[in-house]
Amino acid sequence: MATATIWTINAETPRLCLVCATPFPPRHHHGHWQRYCSQACAQGDRFKKRRAALAVTGPDPKAWMLAHLNRGMTREAMAGLLGMQKAALYAWQKQLGIRKIVRYE
Ligand SMILES: [Zn+2]
Repeated sequence: MATATIWTINAETPRLCLVCATPFPPRHHHGHWQRYCSQACAQGDRFKKRRAALAVTGPDPKAWMLAHLNRGMTREAMAGLLGMQKAALYAWQKQLGIRKIVRYE
């Protein structure tokens, strides 16, 4: 008597974490599906984007950003150039101590 083996997946198949490939049950939160198994992996990916951005900015991202911002580059354009989400760029700039000062002359 012959046997047949069928491999299948069910609807509850866990997703694989984008960073470490650990399967995890997907949860919907903040309006999108969770993509990482843990907070640590989510942050690891965020910093991976920062590391990738350093290829554009060079080793001193703060000086690079200040130079471009003061030449009139918008932060939207900068985020696009660096391959980052705007919110991620804002958070990074805040940590770097970059802030906008409006002067009336
Ligand atoms: Zn992970």
